[in-house]
Amino acid sequence: MRITFVAMGAFYIRVIIPLSLRGTFTYSVPDELIEEMIPGKRVVVPFGAKRYYSALIHEVNASLRQGQTTKEIEYVIDNEPIITEMQFRLWEWISEYYMCGLGTIMLSAMPGAMRLTSSSTVVLNPKSVDTDLLSEIDFDILSRLSLDESTSIQDIEKTMSKGKVQRSLDRLLKLGVVEIQESMEEEAKPKTIVFIDLNDRYNSEEALRDLMENLVRAPKQLEIVMRYLELSGYFDRSLQQVARTKLLNVSSASPAILNTLIEKGVFEKRVEMDSFDTNVEDVKASKFSEEQDRVLTEIENKWLSKMTVLLHGVTGSGKTNIYAELISRNNNSGQTLILVPEIALTAQLVKRMENLLGQKIMVYHSRFSNKERLTMWLQMLSDNEPKIILGARSAVFLPFKKLDLVIIDEEHDASYKQHESSPFYNAKDSATWLAAKFGAKVLLGSATPTVQSYYLTKTDKYALVELNVRFGEIKMPLISAVDLRSAHKDKKMQADFAPESVLKIKETIKAGKQVIIFQNRRGYAPFQLCEACGWSAECVNCDVNLTFHKYFEKLLCHYCGYSIKQPEKCPNCNSAKLKVRGYGTEKIEDDLEVLFPELRIARMDLDTTRKKKALENIIQAFSEGAYDILVGTQMITKGLDFEKVGLVLVMNADSLWNRPDFRAFERAFQLLVQVAGRAGRKNDRGSVLIQTFKPDHPIIALVKGHNYTGMFEEQLLDRRAFDYPPFSKLIKFQLSHKDAKFVKSASQFLAKELRQSFGERVLGPEEPPIARVRNRYLRQIYLKIETNLSASKSRNSIWQAIDLLEGHEDFRKVRCNIDVDPL
Ligand SMILES: [Zn+2]
Ligand SMILES: [Zn+2]
Repeated sequence: MRITFVAMGAFYIRVIIPLSLRGTFTYSVPDELIEEMIPGKRVVVPFGAKRYYSALIHEVNASLRQGQTTKEIEYVIDNEPIITEMQFRLWEWISEYYMCGLGTIMLSAMPGAMRLTSSSTVVLNPKSVDTDLLSEIDFDILSRLSLDESTSIQDIEKTMSKGKVQRSLDRLLKLGVVEIQESMEEEAKPKTIVFIDLNDRYNSEEALRDLMENLVRAPKQLEIVMRYLELSGYFDRSLQQVARTKLLNVSSASPAILNTLIEKGVFEKRVEMDSFDTNVEDVKASKFSEEQDRVLTEIENKWLSKMTVLLHGVTGSGKTNIYAELISRNNNSGQTLILVPEIALTAQLVKRMENLLGQKIMVYHSRFSNKERLTMWLQMLSDNEPKIILGARSAVFLPFKKLDLVIIDEEHDASYKQHESSPFYNAKDSATWLAAKFGAKVLLGSATPTVQSYYLTKTDKYALVELNVRFGEIKMPLISAVDLRSAHKDKKMQADFAPESVLKIKETIKAGKQVIIFQNRRGYAPFQLCEACGWSAECVNCDVNLTFHKYFEKLLCHYCGYSIKQPEKCPNCNSAKLKVRGYGTEKIEDDLEVLFPELRIARMDLDTTRKKKALENIIQAFSEGAYDILVGTQMITKGLDFEKVGLVLVMNADSLWNRPDFRAFERAFQLLVQVAGRAGRKNDRGSVLIQTFKPDHPIIALVKGHNYTGMFEEQLLDRRAFDYPPFSKLIKFQLSHKDAKFVKSASQFLAKELRQSFGERVLGPEEPPIARVRNRYLRQIYLKIETNLSASKSRNSIWQAIDLLEGHEDFRKVRCNIDVDPL
């Protein structure tokens, strides 16, 4: 039946445009398109000078303000909405709570391929397609693209009917005939898995017995063969495939020994695609400890009365197993979302989860290409939606149909908060909000929960479940401090290692174990200093020293990427006495090569893991025993399980707590406990050495005693005394401008306006520790407000002040970011 609208004048819609702008925009709809207007569909609209955007319908049947004029929409892209009602509610909540525009959220929330603009560039994807599906304009676009390798949408629009181009492109994108060109992202390659097969000639028991007798004098080779026979189910005839990594994990032999057996023709290597449905081993049988059983029951009981449960489980307590079991038990019609920190999203974790669950999970994060993310988004909207989704921060924006369980692993991790650019949302809080709307249960897990979350269990907002023992009767690591003062005084330091540290590394390697060395600074050295005149290299765009990167032979800015070639002489006085001060992971690696020339050393930091597979390759190689020592930044603390690590060495603990931040103490404790947790998995107790100039610092005692509650209580006293969160709420305003003068007066203006409503609660303006980044001068203002103050009233007052700032003639080019709950 055709619904007819009574002509009561024109029909208007309000749309969200993918630009960092506040508010939504009104357009008029031609009569023939009125029926197609449904929130969540995209339409092509003109905006600004000759530009077209795929905008989202947010509200239909909108009214017009008196005297307001509108433009008409050009075209409707979608037949069905691509944004659900619930997604809009989440965006609206984020927009209100984090004080940012819906367009800004749209930019973050949707894959790039879903928000085309005139400046997007498209390329042809050579792929056969059913031509019946294509319209005339599709053909025109395809023939245009076959002439040029890549073309911007704007250029295509010049020669064709404007609005129709984007609708057509959207269809071609979904069919996979064209792609949005991406410069930075690499395509995800299919993963492969290596299996080991026993050569057919050992099929008879006799041949096998001969083989074993031959290997008696090569015990390590014999061990691999024995382990292989166990894993393959040879003795009970169950015959399973044996993955190479698994075989190496259960035996103490090195990859080299396995290779010898392959060369001898005992084993054969077989490489297979890690495909979607096969090889999901069902290892659910891995039994739970009594403690884990208790914890599972306790979590389920607490969910009866509380939506959110915080699982405080020490490192190595087997939280992943608990998550998997809860998901299995919960497995009904709804969906499960598992959030993990971006860097922890490795093939190993996914594989392990899939094995535990005996089913496939959908993985979603921003390192996937636009095309892949578009495909996943559409799959979520289809009738065959994935049931278990594992992802980083941005997964919270997916179109869920019915969520009934949300698990947030490593809930203390700061990467859940988007801090580089607006929207400054926190995925942990956003997921919790979403769960409440769906009536879903939430589990937060961490060995070192945030003070904030733990406090919420004390005030009865969250339920608390504690798990204080490691899985498999593994003991907590033995932690001790190494006094750098005496080592320096006695001139006993070897490079940046205290004598005790060097000795312990030797012992650990001798015992056949591996070592992890932690330093929270990448590069070679943070300073290059002229000893003759005191000159040091500084960034031209930022107020920071350039970090010396020896491998690249460059001095590099970690804030803006500016770099210069390493000078041979001081540019100021021509002296050759250029010395480095301080040290980063690259220098540690260098020094280790001198101290232990016989050891194999790997490094894991931003510089060595930029390429897509690099991170996983390092993790895989280290866990297979291909390296003796792994040097890394805090990347190595994120949920990685290595089974043979006997020693963790922290190079310079003092740098962790010497920070101008009220969370410095909490953060230092979390980092130290997490990094210590990498030591001692199977078999015996691991050791942790913390090099410090202050061995009697209170954090050291708390970390040594694995005393989380001690840290919590101490911090809570501090926070209460100085009115910091969780006893107050913080909002940070960061102003920036190319001219220091403007940012100074603008920040004084804003602070004055804010004081009209908030008085003493306004702190600043002040210069941040790094007062200039990317050639923009920075000033910040903090607002510290009581938790019981009306949020909507506060927001209104803030917007009033911001409006005055933005409307002020002098400050038009001053940028102001509002960061609610900054981390
Ligand atoms: Zn000099
Ligand atoms: Zn810079």
